Amino acid sequence: IQRTFSIIKPDAVAKNLIGAIYSRFESAGLTILASKMIHMSQEQAEGFYAEHKGKPFFDGLVAFMTSGPVMVQVLEGENAVLANREIMGSTNPADAARGTIRADYATEVSENAVHGSDATESAAREIAYFFTDDEVC
Ligand code: ATP
Ligand code: MG
Repeated sequence: IQRTFSIIKPDAVAKNLIGAIYSRFESAGLTILASKMIHMSQEQAEGFYAEHKGKPFFDGLVAFMTSGPVMVQVLEGENAVLANREIMGSTNPADAARGTIRADYATEVSENAVHGSDATESAAREIAYFFTDDEVC
């Protein structure tokens, strides 16, 4: 059993897709252990995406992620990191497999509906970035 960290990004929240995306998690066998709506500060978004600092899309990414509320959640299940990446689909919705969240709910690489941790190490770091231990059931 494994945990991963997920964000429903501002584009998907604005499109009223929280419930639809939560259904996808649960249908894939991913249990929601913790969840909250937040509006990220500039500092919070810059820190979260620190690995991308210096890339051409960094400023736009931070502006987008702070543009409105997001849902952050901890998901648990068998191979949760990979399972979540699979149901999310490729970073660029144009490349995402049919039936994935990004293929169905996003059109732009810059506004691609969801984030999911890419490894167990980043999952642990990202969970701790947004949740205290007592917030995770
Ligand atoms: P995420 O980390 O959000 O789960 P990912 O791991 O598939 O997505 P990364 O390479 O980590 O993709 O990029 C992080 C985020 O930065 C992407 O989800 C996307 O929103 C944005 N991004 C990545 N590449 C580009 C790009 N070429 N142009 C615009 N935005 C981009
Ligand atoms: Mg990533």
